[in-house]
Amino acid sequence: MKKYCEECGREVETRIISKKETYEVCGESIEVEAQILVCADCGEEFYCEELDNATLVNAYNEYRRKHKLLLPEEIKKIREQYNLSQRSFAKLLNWGDKTICRYENGSVQDKAHNSLLLFLREPENMRTYITENEITLDERQKAKLLETVEKLEVDNEYGAGKKFLDLFFSPIPSEENGFKGFDYEKVCAMVLFFAHKNVELLKTKLMKLLNYSDMIYYKENGSSMSGLKYAHLPYGPVPEHFDMLLGKMSADHVAHIEVMYDNGYEKHQVIPECEIPEEMFTSDELEVLERVYLKFKDFGSVDISNYSHKEKGYSSTKTGEIISYSYAKDIQLK
Ligand SMILES: [Zn+2]
Repeated sequence: MKKYCEECGREVETRIISKKETYEVCGESIEVEAQILVCADCGEEFYCEELDNATLVNAYNEYRRKHKLLLPEEIKKIREQYNLSQRSFAKLLNWGDKTICRYENGSVQDKAHNSLLLFLREPENMRTYITENEITLDERQKAKLLETVEKLEVDNEYGAGKKFLDLFFSPIPSEENGFKGFDYEKVCAMVLFFAHKNVELLKTKLMKLLNYSDMIYYKENGSSMSGLKYAHLPYGPVPEHFDMLLGKMSADHVAHIEVMYDNGYEKHQVIPECEIPEEMFTSDELEVLERVYLKFKDFGSVDISNYSHKEKGYSSTKTGEIISYSYAKDIQLK
């Protein structure tokens, strides 16, 4: 950009330099890195409205950071997650009509307003706020807002559940999980498949059925179905952290374990609580599940345990070790 330089007395080339400058924000001196347009020859500073505004915005944001105040775009995000207009949001908070608009456009909010906004960022808190305060929204707006809050709460819960699973079940494909990131929905569907097919399916048998399905599928397709890892335990291969998984399935009302007594013996029976979601399996997956089901249909838990003990993956590993899917090539379902 060319400019007329008073010092040089002619049109000159310009460049942008940065230098520390101090701005007054809410009565406080804030130092920021300012971008300044200067004469390329003598260094004379020019006024440039755009750069000046940008620096001012930086100074305000620096002030906000220092005082832990929400940034304008964060305030906007909070409002938008509830699908509220600036006017309705201000009304909900009992603030002046233009208050939210001013904040979103860069005015620094006062501390109390900031605290309320921070609080309302969490959907649970918004629910408390709506139910425990006399708010000025009309019934229709209020119902709509509650609906949005509900949806956000469900999403949050889903996100937290996913994070929890990621702690224990690797989302990263590896030889141990059959080169497939853990797929909770798929495991649930596999459990439901076997629990609906087998009346009185026991937990010990279920674990073997899952193992065979994953191994056979891996052998034929190069990846497991569920992304589960299987560990060598005394009574056969067992999905890692399986009880935790069953706990989650029970909390999610997918399936639960019921303890039964049979001649003094404790039996852990798998009780399905819902149908398999549609289109959960590919035809290849279904075919493998059917084959595994038919093969072991008349096997009791002990029979299938004994059967699985003969597998190379099992005999080549020690108690507690993960059984690599590379052993799948030796599995035969005859
Ligand atoms: Zn100059």
